[in-house]
Amino acid sequence: MLNATPDIQFKTQLRELSNAPLNECIQCGTCSVVCSLAPDDRPFPRKEMIWAGWGMKDQLIGNPDVWLCHQCGDCSSYCPRDIKPADVLSAVRQLSYIHYSRPRFLGKLLSSPKGLPIAILIPVVFIITILSIAGTLHIPDGPVNYSAFFPHSWLNSTFATITLIIFGMTIGGLVTFWKDMKNKFPDEPKQKGFTAGFFAVISELITHRNFGECEAQKPRKVAHLLVFYGFILLFLMTCYAIYAVVAEIYPLSFLNPFKIAGNLASLMLLSGLILMIISRVKDKEKFGNSNYSDWLFLISMLILTISGIGVEMGRFLNWDLAYHIYFLHLCTVWFLIIYLPYIKFGHILYRTTAMIFARTIGRK
Ligand code: SF4
Ligand code: SF4
Repeated sequence: MLNATPDIQFKTQLRELSNAPLNECIQCGTCSVVCSLAPDDRPFPRKEMIWAGWGMKDQLIGNPDVWLCHQCGDCSSYCPRDIKPADVLSAVRQLSYIHYSRPRFLGKLLSSPKGLPIAILIPVVFIITILSIAGTLHIPDGPVNYSAFFPHSWLNSTFATITLIIFGMTIGGLVTFWKDMKNKFPDEPKQKGFTAGFFAVISELITHRNFGECEAQKPRKVAHLLVFYGFILLFLMTCYAIYAVVAEIYPLSFLNPFKIAGNLASLMLLSGLILMIISRVKDKEKFGNSNYSDWLFLISMLILTISGIGVEMGRFLNWDLAYHIYFLHLCTVWFLIIYLPYIKFGHILYRTTAMIFARTIGRK
């Protein structure tokens, strides 16, 4: 049954994040008609727009449809009232992953620039504490050797621990999200099992098929593919680097195939991120406003990629500033890992989960 209880605070947050005049929607339905991703049955985003106007948090949070939108901006381009439904759905998604993530105060910290200094300080203090305990909080003498600064045993064990804790908490949020989606579609017959839905979505992600379906989104497909594959390749090469440390074949030479693959991944990531930033700045009207969360993710990923390249060059060229760049790189990696559930990283996981759920009930 529809829960029509308005939540004024939620509506205010939506308005602030989306910058949209929520009460001006006339429910003409143009947005749903032009959306090439909306299902025929109860299409989005018109119904979401009325829920947003009423501040119906319970209807919007845990609604898989919000996540089927890929923010192409087609609906915003055609809205006769210029309400920007694409921005409203984006704001709902942001409030959704903050809603499901624990502990919530970290989500609040990450939701506005006011909390950023403290958010940055947390990984910095964390890393300084570890280096102090390891007794290596100083610039080592001699040629650049990062393991003399942050011993691999300390790095791998602390990094693995923090990653496992964060992943555990993220999975907890995703399980609650899944239950909420199920409660919203209690009568929907199951058309596919979880595994079949999972593989269907993976195939969609691999090809980025949905990007091709949205007319306005096509130019962004290349950027997204570069970031997507660049990130996966970099992740795999990082895993190999950890193995190389354990197998005592680290550091790898510049011509090692894994090193070459890692460098290629960095370049893919860098060019994809630059293309994304350009399209967000250049096509603001078409794709809608990028909010703080979008920029936080893009800028941190950019710092991560550039500092990663700097770390490698610093080692090969024996730069004086190599350890400082390495410290910046580590802080950025930990920043992204610790805040994974609250920034666009978490977004990717929530979107994938919603897409799997939609597949299992045949909502496409
Ligand atoms: S096109 Fe605009 S006015 Fe019409 S239903 Fe969608 S958001 Fe409302
Ligand atoms: S932004 Fe694109 S995918 Fe999202 S609702 Fe609008 S038209 Fe559909």
